[in-house]
Amino acid sequence: PETITIQELANRMSERAVDVIRLLMKQGEMHKINDVIDADTAQLVAEEMGHTVKRVAESDVEEGLFDTPDIDADLTARPPVVTIMGHVDHGKTSLLDAIRQANVVSGEAGGITQHIGAYQVTAPNGHAITFIDTPGHAAFTAMRARGAKVTDIVVLVVAADDGVMPQTIEAINHARAAHVPLIVAINKIDKPDAKPERVRTELLQYEVQVETMGGETLEVEVSAKQKTNLDKLLELIALQAEVLDLKANAERAAEGTVIEARLDRGRGPVATMLVQRGTLRVGDIVVAGTQWGRVRALLDDQGVARPEAGPSFPVEILGFSGTPEAGDRVAVVESEARAREIAEYRERMKRDKIAARGGSARGSLSDMMS
Ligand code: GDP
Ligand code: MG
Repeated sequence: PETITIQELANRMSERAVDVIRLLMKQGEMHKINDVIDADTAQLVAEEMGHTVKRVAESDVEEGLFDTPDIDADLTARPPVVTIMGHVDHGKTSLLDAIRQANVVSGEAGGITQHIGAYQVTAPNGHAITFIDTPGHAAFTAMRARGAKVTDIVVLVVAADDGVMPQTIEAINHARAAHVPLIVAINKIDKPDAKPERVRTELLQYEVQVETMGGETLEVEVSAKQKTNLDKLLELIALQAEVLDLKANAERAAEGTVIEARLDRGRGPVATMLVQRGTLRVGDIVVAGTQWGRVRALLDDQGVARPEAGPSFPVEILGFSGTPEAGDRVAVVESEARAREIAEYRERMKRDKIAARGGSARGSLSDMMS
């Protein structure tokens, strides 16, 4: 059943908690400020104190925010979103950097030292590919747990001199659980002790059968260090994307996921968002988790201001009131009032959840003592 604490009820009415307690006392109920009462009692109290009560269910506040269906005729092709995973030190960061550098038009190269959580490159076939840098497998899992499916393809990096290791296996399991296809990139083939054949054989134990072993998993030998076969990798990604037939409706209010967010000294909260459906525009009102804002500026991965960003495009958003969290889903809403209502509602839910957890922790402690 729905419940609320006396304090929270008083807050929402902008009344003093002691007046609420006094009123309940008159009705023969003794309560302290942190006591929980049920929604019906709360409603009686509120009405008694002259307030109109609107009981809002979760479904009302969040209604229509995400995942409203599109019709097929509105769907157009969108770039694939790719995550690079693999064991520590097998070359994930080196590969991400090498791909980005190889793709940046010279002359702009000075601008790429800044770290950003996602970028887009052009494959040899002329199509765009979006790479996101999820900081590790934990982030990937956390995003999935929140219902955010951000990745279409996982590039599994395995160092040819080290072979399949624990986090390689973890990555395989993540991709499988998320129903995301793998492309195997056997890295560090420049090393004298590289044994790509061994990697292929080891992968068989985990039911990853690459093409040269008679399977269907795409594979490529690369060297992030010497920038070998990076184009081949991009080609394979483009090929896999074609098979997946990825589409989105670009002509609707934007939806997406926060890839990372931080508080910038000069610019305030900065959130990198992956747009997943629709088109985000400067001036749009966005909600992400418990934060909201009006988009003041959109910056692409080169730091260039853009008026809008469509499906699979990663952009930095300026204009949030506070800093959202990585993994928060982002939605565009029609008014500031609605944005505020959603953000405040989620804030309350978060507080209630923390309060509930505190309660159960005390319970388990007393259990332990008895
Ligand atoms: P991550 O932990 O998976 O992100 O791995 P890093 O990208 O940080 O790379 C770990 C180490 O391997 C670094 O010292 C890199 O310079 C090195 N490394 C990465 N790719 C290659 C490669 O293709 N060849 C060689 N020889 N070294 C590489
Ligand atoms: Mg790294």
